[in-house]
Amino acid sequence: MPELPEVETTVRGLERVLLGKRIARVEARRPDLRRALPVDLGHRLTGSRVVGLRRRAKYGLIDTDRDDTLVFHLGMSGRWRIDPSATEKHDHLILETVDGHRLALNDPRRFGSLDLVRTSELAEWPPMKALGPEPLGIESVELKHRLVGRSASIKLLLLDQRIIAGLGNIYVCEALYRAGIHPSRTGGSVSLARLERLVAAIRDVLTEAIAAGGSTLRDFAGPDGELGYFSKAFAVYDREGQPCSCGGIVRRMVQGGRSTFYCPRCQR
Ligand SMILES: [Zn+2]
Repeated sequence: MPELPEVETTVRGLERVLLGKRIARVEARRPDLRRALPVDLGHRLTGSRVVGLRRRAKYGLIDTDRDDTLVFHLGMSGRWRIDPSATEKHDHLILETVDGHRLALNDPRRFGSLDLVRTSELAEWPPMKALGPEPLGIESVELKHRLVGRSASIKLLLLDQRIIAGLGNIYVCEALYRAGIHPSRTGGSVSLARLERLVAAIRDVLTEAIAAGGSTLRDFAGPDGELGYFSKAFAVYDREGQPCSCGGIVRRMVQGGRSTFYCPRCQR
């Protein structure tokens, strides 16, 4: 499942072939993903020039010179393919640039989304407006303020996109481990000093993953270059029953219907 680092890497990969380019052709190969595609997608994008690519939380943003932003979310299984040699079954959107690049958004499970929003109105677009601050930029004081009085577990609060936007299960588990915070601890009870460690841990795990993804960008120039997924070694995520570096054993529990991996000796 793509998380923030995969989206960031995808945006950087797309930027290489899209920035400054005019879109020659748009082909929507089905009417919907998680929700309906904009009916005027082809009309509004064809002939436009891409003037910027950005990420906000787990959304990728492609800005055009027509005050339009194509907003993509990769959902559970989405990925962009650059210059694929052939169209595949789950390629749902094809973009072609005037200089001959071809991009395919592939999403077998179709939990992703594609929206076209006026760039000037993006901040007010409801899915965007609801988002909390970026995890790479948040300060511990602001996080403390957002957690005050909250009795839910710190794990679930960090997954709440209104509190902090863009964190998924993997990086929340890893950041809590690095900060030594038990995932069941209530959000409001975590001290500012420990939140400082947490904010640093969040920044570090994301930055390291983005760097790992960046190293895979070199391969994207080839045929069927795929953006979106890369493997990384985790300290606790998906390591139930395996030893922690402290000598303890990594455990798994379920919070909010999802697995949490943690070390009961390192995390209090
Ligand atoms: Zn440990």
